[in-house]
Amino acid sequence: MIDAVLAGRDVLAVMPTGAGKSLCYQIPALLLEGLTLVISPLISLMKDQVKALEAAGVSAAFLNSSLSPHEYAETIFRAARGDYKILYIAPERLRKGFPPQLAESSPASPGISLVVIDEAHCVSQWGHDFRPSYLEITAFIRQLEQRPITAAFTATATGKVKDDIKRILSLHDPYVLTTGFDRSNLYFEVQKPRDRFGALLDCLASRRGASGIIYCSTRKTVEEICRALDAKGFGATRYHAGLDDQERRNNQDDFIYDRKPVMVATNAFGMGIDKSSVSFVIHYNMPKNIESYYQEAGRAGRDGEKADCILLYSPQDVRINTYLIRNSQDEEVKDQALVEHNLELLKEMTFYATTSDCLRSRLLSYFGEAGPAWCGNCSNCNTVFEETDITPPARKIISCVFRLKERGRSFGKTMVAGILRGGKSEKIRASHCDTLSTYGIMADTDLHRIRLMMDHLIAEQYLGLEGDEYPVLVLRPRWREAFGEEKTIRMMLPKEKGRSGELGIRNGTAPAGGTRIKTTNHEAVTPEKNAVRVEAFRPDGAEEALFLKLKELRSRLAQEAKAPAYIVFSDAALRDMCRKRPLTPDQFLNINGVGAVKLERYGEVFMRLIREYGN
Ligand code: ZN
Repeated sequence: MIDAVLAGRDVLAVMPTGAGKSLCYQIPALLLEGLTLVISPLISLMKDQVKALEAAGVSAAFLNSSLSPHEYAETIFRAARGDYKILYIAPERLRKGFPPQLAESSPASPGISLVVIDEAHCVSQWGHDFRPSYLEITAFIRQLEQRPITAAFTATATGKVKDDIKRILSLHDPYVLTTGFDRSNLYFEVQKPRDRFGALLDCLASRRGASGIIYCSTRKTVEEICRALDAKGFGATRYHAGLDDQERRNNQDDFIYDRKPVMVATNAFGMGIDKSSVSFVIHYNMPKNIESYYQEAGRAGRDGEKADCILLYSPQDVRINTYLIRNSQDEEVKDQALVEHNLELLKEMTFYATTSDCLRSRLLSYFGEAGPAWCGNCSNCNTVFEETDITPPARKIISCVFRLKERGRSFGKTMVAGILRGGKSEKIRASHCDTLSTYGIMADTDLHRIRLMMDHLIAEQYLGLEGDEYPVLVLRPRWREAFGEEKTIRMMLPKEKGRSGELGIRNGTAPAGGTRIKTTNHEAVTPEKNAVRVEAFRPDGAEEALFLKLKELRSRLAQEAKAPAYIVFSDAALRDMCRKRPLTPDQFLNINGVGAVKLERYGEVFMRLIREYGN
């Protein structure tokens, strides 16, 4: 990427979060003459990036609405004088009149040599985050005296979106790079809890003090969850578009500076949050599409440390998202083709949430990349599924739908499951469903399990769902096959609770070499609460103690510098120090994330601490 830019070529890079995107334009920016303009949609990103660049000894600034008129004029004046190598700007600013003194070259400044378009997928209607202001970028570039090198970056883009980026931004024969999407340090998990809040508390209990984000689909849920977590003593703060600027800024800072470890937020939070030490991202609701999910989940573990991405799925999410897509207030999304497209994306997301395949391989294949059948680092690979013959219960479920049909009735999954389990609800009695021959014939089967089987029968086209708002179960022509004499219906189901038997890898998916799951790690795992994660890769006690000391020192230095801790050093850098115990400048330079500036600024104090610690 860097070579291509330095050779004067346009580029398009699709790189996942944390893959080193910033370096790909920051290094050319330093080597090229003149100014590099970085167009970026969110103000918080700019502030952070500029802080990080300054900490590394690079002169940079930003232009956006958070500046006072005086600061704005001052920044333009200094940029025109050639004081900065990198200038961040919000796309809206391009329309509102870009300062002409920056657009032209002059004896004092050779003008703009490189334009970087960050989050370039925002230019495409087919992406998940279309922004009309991005359409102004092309005209802006065209009116510059000399066409700069144009570099487009995004973390997620399907083929269609990539084509749009090239076409709309008029990239000239760009060098295109798509790096692997896999983030091997991330653990993926889907839970289908009956009690979502309870499941959330379970997740948090084992992660007290760790920094994480909880995404909810609505402001209301953010408020409720944040309040409830606060009441339970978790340091939580909140973020959504309904809060005023000042509060959003404060809350964001509380999170970034570790004053509040947990951020509860809508998807308004995060684009451009550069906090590298986020160790978990929990989705309390299922997002509308996999691009959004992967981008949000990908905010975990940017320092390369182990981190968890957990989705708490409920079928309700599908209904709500379908409704939101169909009734979008967004003018651009009124287009029917786009509605269909978005429903299709929702279907893919739902498939991710309900599959029993390896989650990582689902994600990777969505982005067009081949994944392993078994990654060993996701909840589907780790929870032990077993292939189960569900022919008898499947016949019972289908019979129940059949009997209802005979009476000219149809109901949703919950009601049908209730009938099968012999439920005593008012609705069942009032509709005389307790007189059906199939009433109570699955009384000893867990409701959740019945629902899993129903989902399978729907996926396999024995049954179907009809109706948008309150979908009801209906027979599909294939239903008769289920009663064929030789017929068996099989599916992967979590082992039933309380059953003994050796835990093992499910058939046919174990990697060559026969790696075995250590059963001790999984004995506590139940199908509904598969939150237990493999506690491997933990350093020993002495290392942990040094790590805590280094963290303390880092916090002190960060406070003095009024910067977030990770700007001083990332957790990964501190871990590396624990492992390598550097005592000389040379050794210190070998630490992950240490360059000349960091060595000068912090080397001595950190090495002193490591020395005192006894080495
Ligand atoms: Zn997996």
